Amino acid sequence: MENLLDRFLRYVKIDTESVPGIEQIPSTKKQFDLANLLVDELKAMGMQDVSIDENCYVMATLPSNIDKEVPTIGFIAHVDTTPDLTGKDVKPQVWENYDGEDIVLNKEQNIVLTTEEFPEIKKYKGQTIVTTDGTTLLGADDKAGVAEIMEAMDYLIKHPEIKHGTIKVGFTPDEEVGKGANLFDVEKFGAEWAYTMDGGPMGEFEYENFNAAYAEVTFKGQNVHPGTAKGKMVNSMNIAAKFATKFPQSETPEQTEKYEGFYHLLTMTGSVEETKLQYIIRDHDHNLFISRKDHMESLVKTFQSEYGEDRVKLELVDQYYNMKEKVAPNMHIVDFALEAMKELNIEPDVKAIRGGTDGAQLSFKGLPCPNIFAGGHNMHARYEYVPVPTMEAATNVIIKIAELVAKK
Ligand SMILES: [Zn+2]
Repeated sequence: MENLLDRFLRYVKIDTESVPGIEQIPSTKKQFDLANLLVDELKAMGMQDVSIDENCYVMATLPSNIDKEVPTIGFIAHVDTTPDLTGKDVKPQVWENYDGEDIVLNKEQNIVLTTEEFPEIKKYKGQTIVTTDGTTLLGADDKAGVAEIMEAMDYLIKHPEIKHGTIKVGFTPDEEVGKGANLFDVEKFGAEWAYTMDGGPMGEFEYENFNAAYAEVTFKGQNVHPGTAKGKMVNSMNIAAKFATKFPQSETPEQTEKYEGFYHLLTMTGSVEETKLQYIIRDHDHNLFISRKDHMESLVKTFQSEYGEDRVKLELVDQYYNMKEKVAPNMHIVDFALEAMKELNIEPDVKAIRGGTDGAQLSFKGLPCPNIFAGGHNMHARYEYVPVPTMEAATNVIIKIAELVAKK
């Protein structure tokens, strides 16, 4: 797999930053720079049905090399990088045989990846790791996933003795701005299930995520000159402030972890005349998710009866759902991934995502899609890094899953 690192370095040097709040997909044209390169490389390595559409979705097929019918499976990664930090002029640094000490990313600007702040890096002593030069993100999220899928396909083509069914690969734009799955053509992709290669450290595997809703509560007040306001002024900020205290104090993001859900007050903007509170509501459990939304609705009703119906308005919308609902009835999807890791001596680390993924959306579009580790650490930051052996392991997991599905 001497190509894997070269591939990764080639991809991270291409700026593919996405931008939020843009209607069209892809949100930035430059995502085509990587997508088009992938199309060329897929064709050159011998993949079939290689396509790219006007929205920057790349798809390709590795035909089956066996006679019997086995499920068609897919692997998916995203080409864009987060708008949180620039992905322009990424200058990856390769540290061979990492010594386990602090890494000076940038001497001039004194940017150091310290073992004190990021102690888990010490685990990678002796390995080759790739970091940034301290001025940009690295883009291992998710170009590590892209490189692993590309490398695995290339390997399978060069090693026909490894038997596999039909394998589909997909590369999507705009994952980081929450739109990667929006225009993904599940029918055209044609897989029974897929895996996103978009997770962190070795062994990470995820098939549960939050159920998510967004709530906007608007309070209307009435402004009157404060000198003559008695009995007339209605200060919407005071009503809103009171409203905001009516949630369980311990059920906030900063006080919850693992499977604990929360209400999160995102923004509070107001004047006497009008105040808006924006909330996100999160829970892995379907019933608890419903009861959280019920709580929000009944609180609004209570305030409406106290202050008048026109004084309080609620907009409540579902954002995404827990993919477990779609994956759990088909646990072989999980079992193949865990078995592949076991055969490769990788200790699985199965976690519930405290967020959403493109895979969650795809699962509800009919393509169950858990998430497998890709190797990146400290994503979305200048301290992002990836150990090369973890990328190799992820590549091997892809190959092994293909093999196991063909054996069943
Ligand atoms: Zn990602």
